[in-house]
Amino acid sequence: MSRFPSFLQSLIKAKSYNLPPNHYQLMPRLRCRDYGFECEFIAEDPDVAKVISAYGKHSEEEHGIEYSKESLMQFILRQG
Ligand SMILES: [Zn+2]
Repeated sequence: MSRFPSFLQSLIKAKSYNLPPNHYQLMPRLRCRDYGFECEFIAEDPDVAKVISAYGKHSEEEHGIEYSKESLMQFILRQG
């Protein structure tokens, strides 16, 4: 880094701090595949409540498995 003038170094630092941390990976998402289903269904929405209701509906209708909203919330939180 020594070959950069110091004002540039601080610019580079500031820039890397301002990057959104894995912005797109933070989108709440539930994938059937992640729970052992041979199924391409993915519920994905910035609104976590929509992900939960979409996945809950799909799981119940397609796989006959009813998850509680609390369990689905846990699934999403554990994806870290
Ligand atoms: Zn499915």
